[in-house]
Amino acid sequence: MSTTDTSSNKPSKSGNFLEQIIEKDLKEGVVQSVQTRFPPEPNGYLHIGHATSICLNFGLAEQFNGQCNLRFDDTNPEKEEQVYVDAIQEDVRWLGFKWSGEVRYASSYFDQFYQWALYLIKEGKAYVDHQDAESMAKNRGDFNTPGVETECRKRSVEENLAEFEKMRAGEYEEGQCSLRARIDLQHSNMNMRDPILYRIRKVPHHQTGDKWCIYPSYDFAHGQEDAIEGVTHSICTLEFQDHRPLYEWFIENLPVPSRPRQYEFARTNLNYTVTSKRKLKRLVDEGIVQSWDDPRMPTVSGMRRRGYTPASIRKFSEMVGVSRSDGIADVSMLEHAIRDDLNNNAARAMAVMNPLKVVITNLPEGEVQEMAAAAHPNKPELGERTLPFTRELYIDRSDFTEDTTLSRKKFKRLVSGEYVRLRSAYVIKSDEVIKDEQGKITEIHCSYVPDTVGENPPEGIRPRGVIHWVSATHGKQAEIRKYDRLFNHPAPDKGDEDFMTHVNPASLEVVTGWVEPSLVDAEPEQGFQFEREGYFVADRREHSATKPVFNMTIGLKDTWANKV
Ligand code: ATP
Ligand code: MG
Repeated sequence: MSTTDTSSNKPSKSGNFLEQIIEKDLKEGVVQSVQTRFPPEPNGYLHIGHATSICLNFGLAEQFNGQCNLRFDDTNPEKEEQVYVDAIQEDVRWLGFKWSGEVRYASSYFDQFYQWALYLIKEGKAYVDHQDAESMAKNRGDFNTPGVETECRKRSVEENLAEFEKMRAGEYEEGQCSLRARIDLQHSNMNMRDPILYRIRKVPHHQTGDKWCIYPSYDFAHGQEDAIEGVTHSICTLEFQDHRPLYEWFIENLPVPSRPRQYEFARTNLNYTVTSKRKLKRLVDEGIVQSWDDPRMPTVSGMRRRGYTPASIRKFSEMVGVSRSDGIADVSMLEHAIRDDLNNNAARAMAVMNPLKVVITNLPEGEVQEMAAAAHPNKPELGERTLPFTRELYIDRSDFTEDTTLSRKKFKRLVSGEYVRLRSAYVIKSDEVIKDEQGKITEIHCSYVPDTVGENPPEGIRPRGVIHWVSATHGKQAEIRKYDRLFNHPAPDKGDEDFMTHVNPASLEVVTGWVEPSLVDAEPEQGFQFEREGYFVADRREHSATKPVFNMTIGLKDTWANKV
């Protein structure tokens, strides 16, 4: 049974735990409508983990006829940049989601946060602390040691207001002081031991420029952003579970306009992959990959360039589901999602990666026979393409052998003196092998068997199999980029070693192949199945009719489907 009946938008009782909570909240009138948000920090490009969070937040809003905001959680100006702000919006749109209203920024609430900081000071619930980071950490104690009250904590409201104003005015340097909540230095939850609300950072901000030299902490900002936007269900990852009491403390102790609630779910982790913007940035900065959207990257833009479709990423998110405990998803599941999509939807084409020339000796030079081939075996609506059959062709070097002892079962390709079918064309026979002085095969001379296009050959002629081919005179050369995993370790960032030591040195192989002529008309980002080779996509940035460039999306063989 499926968990949701999307046709009627009515989730069934057996949905994931978040669906169940929302359903209950709506039924009991705790909320009138659902408002979620996706809150990235613009300090890097989005990765596959973020994509699942996007699908979850936007998906829940869609499912319950609610809204989802896109909000940049931009409280950390040193690491953030406008290029990331732009790329993130493009990624969310590409995944097929529409945020409610304008894009939002935490930074547009800075005035309000500042007012709320003053409010807490006036209530005696916040104070300026002049301790340096080291003594602050020491005096907060630890799990076994209660915190110690220092002189700053005993300051009067007036003194705190004056000190905080000095902080804001830039009279103190970074690290000299901070604003802290006055909660409980004995609290068993360390996050409640007078957390920092504001710190001094004398750096300009990509949205607010030089206006501020103090910036709110994540904790002081996030829940209040949610409250300002009327978020009902604020879904974050598990590491924020211990921050929830603090999230709730702010909502309780501030005159906020609404009462959001925080829920946590497990991060999506994938084997053979790192999903951390910081680590992905290192791969870019250290030149391991060419860019954030390098097709080997698990970024949304990298996957897009690799040939993943929005539908496949949404499907993958559905497959990993929503869990409350950490786990590691198998990357082959993601690969299964895209393979399945492309198998159903991608047009077929032929490309020869490692060309070996075949001369059809009984076809005169200059003669071109046009072979019609379906673009997709099950989708006549995708039409046909024309394959020029000419005297000189290419087949793949691995599709020919002189070893006549190989059984028909083992080698279903072309063997000296035997027959094979060329896909969508004739049955041919290998008559003669031509070699250079080193003994390397340079050409195979073959003859075609007339009347075998779409027809069985005459009695006694038994082709071993069907192979792909491209006309050597009408085909086009193309740059073909074949990818392997970026990491050769199943858990690259989980051990003691630096994850960079597990980079696969052979993750990219560039070959010059021959592609059928129709492929020069491929639109950038159009995906194909190159028959018998795998799924490929016309490169989004570099493919053109004059210089065709294809990226390998994924091979044909599904390792995941066999496991389940
Ligand atoms: P990173 O470590 O990659 O920077 P982050 O959590 O710091 O991740 P944010 O920009 O703060 O990145 O994340 C935006 C949203 O995406 C948050 O709600 C976060 O919980 C969610 N998110 C981030 N990584 C994952 C993941 N691997 N799986 C699911 N959700 C994620
Ligand atoms: Mg973060």
